Amino acid sequence: MSLAQRDQSIIWHPYTQMKTAELPVAIVRGESALLYAEDGKEYIDAVASWWVNLHGHAHPYIAEKVAKQLQTLEHVIFAGFTHQPAVELAEGLLKILPEGQSKVFYSDNGSTAVEVALKMAIQYWANIGTPKKKIIAFRDSYHGDTFGAMAVSSRSAFTAPFWSYLFDVSFIDVPTPGNEAETINQLEAFAIAGDVAAFIYEPLVLGTAGMVMYTPEVLDRLMQICQQHNILTIADEVMTGFGRTGKLFASHYLQHKPDMVCLSKGLTGGTMALGVTTCNDKIYDAFLADDKSKTLFHGHSYTANPVACAAGIASLELTISQETQQNLERIATRHQTFAEEIKQLPGIREVRQQGTILAIEFADESTSYFSNLRDTLYNYAMEQGVILRPLGNIIYVIPPYCITNEQLDKVYKTIRGMQQLIVNC
Ligand SMILES: *Cc1c(COP(=O)(O)O)cnc(C)c1O
Repeated sequence: MSLAQRDQSIIWHPYTQMKTAELPVAIVRGESALLYAEDGKEYIDAVASWWVNLHGHAHPYIAEKVAKQLQTLEHVIFAGFTHQPAVELAEGLLKILPEGQSKVFYSDNGSTAVEVALKMAIQYWANIGTPKKKIIAFRDSYHGDTFGAMAVSSRSAFTAPFWSYLFDVSFIDVPTPGNEAETINQLEAFAIAGDVAAFIYEPLVLGTAGMVMYTPEVLDRLMQICQQHNILTIADEVMTGFGRTGKLFASHYLQHKPDMVCLSKGLTGGTMALGVTTCNDKIYDAFLADDKSKTLFHGHSYTANPVACAAGIASLELTISQETQQNLERIATRHQTFAEEIKQLPGIREVRQQGTILAIEFADESTSYFSNLRDTLYNYAMEQGVILRPLGNIIYVIPPYCITNEQLDKVYKTIRGMQQLIVNC
């Protein structure tokens, strides 16, 4: 039996209808932007393995640091104990995060980073003696798959069975170009009505919604309203962090600074699961008390795992290197050139680009037709040796920063091929 067949007999995969799923592709090795399958075929990883990989697969520098850490200290309970990787990573992150962030709380992934931020926000108001109940979020947002994270995410088909278990959230529309004024009005109405604890948002790019983009100007206006009405702000930079949008963090495009930031995905360069929630002194200080009930009672068995933190430090060094900064510009420039070309072609509704993220929305006349087309497009790209995973009628490129120009050209060529498939069918 092949690896894929052994998998299929016992493993339940994420976001996968197992009844109709094709055999998974067994990957045996990765190097730079390439993945190698069991059958010898090679693939360009144009989606950075679910948006996590920054510097390429099996990066030798990260591997070396991880191996060394494994032989030094693999794990220790993080209540009452600490270690060098946790401290160094926290120091490194605070140096580059938006101004005002001063404390680092570790957890395991993006969803837990969001849970922690929500708990910090809700308990902040309880601790200072003015409990507030409501959370504001974008209607199409995605903040993770645990219950709190699902609650502040879009009420989509993905979460439908759980709707009655999710707490109420005040949703506002995504302020895409043309809709800014309406969103500002919606936020203002909720702010004036009061009882709002926090506003959580994906800054500039809503990933799972289909790489939906909006401007820093309108987000600044929304944050200004929040600050005027004493509403805490939570920047979910799980996807946008570490250079994805062209700057180290999407929040760096803004004048206003968030109270809390959630990080994961690129945090370890895509090597290990790790989550971080950071906050400013205002939040942190509200938990300092002789009264033990004001403690943040949250933690995970693997909180601040030293090996994951070591990977985080290594990845951070690579991220702030000149080479990576040049790569961010190179990819953004090439994306722009390709965007200009493809947006003229028939069958294309919209092309969006922000830094290293490129999204192409195909015109979709009929949804059922398109759900079939999604598989057709995916399979076509796989045949070409390119991993491009459409979100409905939207195809996006979010590559490792080490992707070469030749590899990018092959990705673009594959997208042109998809466009041809659409107009010809
Ligand atoms: C992926 C993602 C999450 C959830 O992270 P997981 O590590 O998958 O739990 C949260 N927020 C955003 C913006 C994300 O893109």
